[in-house]
Amino acid sequence: MNKGQLIVFSGPSGVGKGTVLKEFLKNRENVALSVSATTRQPRPGEENGVHYYFLTKEDFLKKVEEGNMLEYAQYNQNYYGTPKDKVEEALEQGRDIILEIEVQGALLVKEKCPDALLVFVMPPSWQELRSRLVGRNTEDAVTIENRLTIARQELQQAVHYDYILVNDSVAEAAQRLEHIIEAGRCRITEMKDFIREVDQHA
Ligand code: ADP
Ligand code: 5GP
Repeated sequence: MNKGQLIVFSGPSGVGKGTVLKEFLKNRENVALSVSATTRQPRPGEENGVHYYFLTKEDFLKKVEEGNMLEYAQYNQNYYGTPKDKVEEALEQGRDIILEIEVQGALLVKEKCPDALLVFVMPPSWQELRSRLVGRNTEDAVTIENRLTIARQELQQAVHYDYILVNDSVAEAAQRLEHIIEAGRCRITEMKDFIREVDQHA
């Protein structure tokens, strides 16, 4: 059985990661989305265990200490991390799994899992990023400025990713993500077993 691909999906806050993923995941059963743990407060409408596992700082750090996180990072004064168990389960079952995580965590995953496919989402322009973040209306002005400051630093890290996905229109970005994942499946690192199998009968 083919193993699943570990797909890391990052990009500045407000660029539209959640929106593109939602569109992409429609009618796709063989791709899982990892549910992260965080110490930040839930936004209106966010449910525990669906959007995030909302934990206290103590509980979060306990999970880190117990070795239950694939990676974790601090972002704008809160902790965010990827629980290991679901990722391992999906990959073992041959399902792709997407981690929507920020850049520090993404680079940790790249170190631990060199075969991971790293996708960085960019806005069509800086102005558009700002207006999407403001337009979402989920953070106060200070938090928005903090997130934009972090975004400037994150853009510097985009060169470490495998692909850039420009989120101009949601439908087109979701379509391009499909193509990127398809291309990821054709990488030599993913095809070694297949090459060996054919070679055995050569
Ligand atoms: P992120 O998950 O990256 O923080 P969201 O998915 O919450 O970003 O999107 C931020 C805001 O931008 C939302 O209000 C969303 O509706 C809007 N948005 C997302 N993608 C697009 C797009 N391609 N064009 C216009 N607005 C978008
Ligand atoms: P938000 O507060 O907007 O939901 O997320 C803030 C940032 O944290 C986003 O860039 C998001 O991708 C990132 N993030 C979400 N979950 C994780 C995680 O498990 N690990 C890391 N490193 N970052 C995460």
